[in-house]
Amino acid sequence: MDAIPLQAIIDKALERPRNPTVGAPARLAVLVGPADLRAVRAAAYDLKCRHCGRRVSMRGIVELGNVCAKDCLYCGIRKSNASLERYRLSADDIERLARVDADAGYASIVLQGGEIEGEANTAFIEECLRRIAPLRLGVTLSLGEQTEETYRRWKDAGASRYLLRIETSSPELYARLHPADHSWERRVECLRALRRCGYQVGTGVMCALPGQTPLDLARDIVFFGDIDADMIGMGPYIPHPDTPLGKIAPPLSPAERLRLGLNMIAATRLYLHDVNIASTTALQALAPDGREQGVLAGANVMMPNITDTKYRRRYQLYAGKPCLDENAALCRGCLERRLAVIGETVNYGARGDSPHYFARTGESPETPRHDD
Ligand code: SAM
Ligand code: SF4
Repeated sequence: MDAIPLQAIIDKALERPRNPTVGAPARLAVLVGPADLRAVRAAAYDLKCRHCGRRVSMRGIVELGNVCAKDCLYCGIRKSNASLERYRLSADDIERLARVDADAGYASIVLQGGEIEGEANTAFIEECLRRIAPLRLGVTLSLGEQTEETYRRWKDAGASRYLLRIETSSPELYARLHPADHSWERRVECLRALRRCGYQVGTGVMCALPGQTPLDLARDIVFFGDIDADMIGMGPYIPHPDTPLGKIAPPLSPAERLRLGLNMIAATRLYLHDVNIASTTALQALAPDGREQGVLAGANVMMPNITDTKYRRRYQLYAGKPCLDENAALCRGCLERRLAVIGETVNYGARGDSPHYFARTGESPETPRHDD
């Protein structure tokens, strides 16, 4: 693989998406040399600007609750973490926070939380979606594995995007990171069901996981292409002390995890071109300007936390979660200033749907799809 000059890989990648020569994403993902990193990130940033402009689309993220039926070995809100006080926001809280999001001009919102299945929760989310529909926000849900019927009901109630990370494209690695009753195959089937329901489908992985190889990372990127994802949300794994995986020393230093996270963004942009890619909070947990670095590596979406500060400590997926005490208004000003430093602006008033979604469906951008 090293026989191919890096510039030749970049040139091929820029020609068209999914260019097989980027079947070298393993090489892109593990680059370390400063000149190589500069070249790959500059090419990925150029592609980001070509497809999304020098603008970053915002989605305020509301952490709906930390009640979860799952027990993922890496996650701070897993059901076996007995040291956590559990909470669930009310429909009134969610409606109020959706107004905060709309007033901030973000035009899109993410409702995320632990995984709860069953009629009561399905109906509750449906009610919340119907209550916030008049705000005409682009709504992303990230509520784990559900039945196709539930996904369909939530789509009908106003959600248009769904984020469900596959976590790793390797079934073997997935099995080492989850209890035996968690199924990689079901997660893939859920992604297919979301696609059938007409969502803009987002997936993603964690990188720098114990036991993960460069080939696993390369396959992750190819997986995104094979499933034809519209949106990618990925970031470095960060240990949480109250989890089984958090008790194992992480394989890489924080700086190495940050570099890997940025390389994955750049390699994914070079491979897929027109998808939305989030610059995730996990990057910010590793460096104060981690999210800006993510944009310069090819990401075009940020998800400022708009959850009331009193709940944020109870939704710590990993140690060192940033902005625990920063309210939505402070966060908005801070992001604007940070983006200005790198010559980017906030895409206020635009939903920032995935260009790839429009390319594959033929729908027109910014056409409201639910309430007209
Ligand atoms: N429960 C839903 C699910 O799992 O899809 C949505 C919420 S879950 C908290 C969102 C994401 O957090 C997961 O997909 C996982 O990738 C990420 N996450 C959990 N623990 C993490 C950790 N220790 N480090 C980095 N990311 C983590
Ligand atoms: Fe629950 Fe999601 Fe955390 Fe897994 S990653 S324990 S499903 S909140």
